[in-house]
Amino acid sequence: MSDLQRIILVHYHEIGLKGHNRASFEMRLLRNLEGLLGAFPLVTIHRIAGRLLVFLKEGTGYEEANACADAITGVPGVARVSCGFKCLREMGPMGCAAVEALGEALAHDAAADSFKVSARRNHTDFPIDSMQMNRDIGAVLCEAYPQLAVRMKEPAVTVGVEVVQNAAYVYARSIRGIGGLPVGSAGKLVCLLSSGIDSPVATWRMARRGGTCIGVHFSGRPQTSDASEFLVEDIARVLARTGCIAKVYVVPFGDYQREISLVVPPSLRIIIYRRLMFRVAHAIARRERARGLVTGESLGQVASQTIENMAVTNAAVPNDFPVLRPLCGTDKLEIIDEAKRLGTFDISSQDAPDCCTLFMPRSPETHAKLADVEAAEADLPLQQWVEELLEAAEVRFSAR
Ligand code: ATP
Ligand code: MG
Repeated sequence: MSDLQRIILVHYHEIGLKGHNRASFEMRLLRNLEGLLGAFPLVTIHRIAGRLLVFLKEGTGYEEANACADAITGVPGVARVSCGFKCLREMGPMGCAAVEALGEALAHDAAADSFKVSARRNHTDFPIDSMQMNRDIGAVLCEAYPQLAVRMKEPAVTVGVEVVQNAAYVYARSIRGIGGLPVGSAGKLVCLLSSGIDSPVATWRMARRGGTCIGVHFSGRPQTSDASEFLVEDIARVLARTGCIAKVYVVPFGDYQREISLVVPPSLRIIIYRRLMFRVAHAIARRERARGLVTGESLGQVASQTIENMAVTNAAVPNDFPVLRPLCGTDKLEIIDEAKRLGTFDISSQDAPDCCTLFMPRSPETHAKLADVEAAEADLPLQQWVEELLEAAEVRFSAR
């Protein structure tokens, strides 16, 4: 064991498709990982042909290395993560490393009953070709694990061996990552983040497409308690584990909602609250130099989320400013499953009065017309409100 250094190989897909942008994408993923893995015993992260290589400190245990690998799987841009060792470029040490790596993979997957070796050499200065390496290391593994079958097609475990210029990397346990693009590769977005189930999932989806997400939460304070604000902070902490949120603003919205509820027809209240939220979020986006808004709306999910109402809410922001609704075509049950996988579901399921439970109408308009909505807003000092709300917005969470 003494000459084996633990490593984690991080594979990506889509980055490879980006042609000349490739190096900057790789560097971004590398920096994102460096920023997120502070709690693990990392030495350094290198770029090697088509993947990233995470070096762990000498003496790092199996549990810790695998926990680190598990953490990496959730980071946008990561397609696959493999755990293993760096060793000397000699068949003896490579065989030992393969025995060790396969043993650990078996510990994670007791049902595994077969394996194959997949070797490659990046430098032809290594005298043994990949077919021969497959055979020789395969023979060592057959002896160490006689209970396993060798299977070329769909083996339970693939033992990877890569020979590079000065070393070899040998790995076996391999876990799928969430894919996507590294956060930061697609510009900034302002995400309307309630404490509900949907908007954290919407935020996560856009982060997985490379967006740097800035949450904005409108709380019912001072008309309600600040409970929803704490839930949103908890949600942000969960999203931040994988780098999927950069910052959260909280905007105390209760008094404005009350004002609106006093003067506009009840059926138009929700849409007018929402339009004011959009205006404030747009103002925050300008301050942050963000290029779009994101909401957790899903077509037809509730009475207020019709295509007509979406059009009327969009009209509150300039029409060259995109409003993204990544859940628009997603079913509630799928959203719930995703929220569970993400770890936000339990937080979102806690009850907290947010501004939308306040002053709710009995039957909201489902087919709002812009002219009616604009007429109902005509006497509201919207510009002044946006300025006041922007002034009152507090940064309540900031990653790193
Ligand atoms: P969610 O589960 O995200 O709360 P929802 O099913 O409750 O969504 P709505 O209340 O119609 O649906 O809200 C639609 C979207 O509007 C939310 O997904 C969110 O993006 C935004 N939104 C609603 N309330 C707030 C709020 N208090 N603060 C920030 N954004 C909000
Ligand atoms: Mg909600």
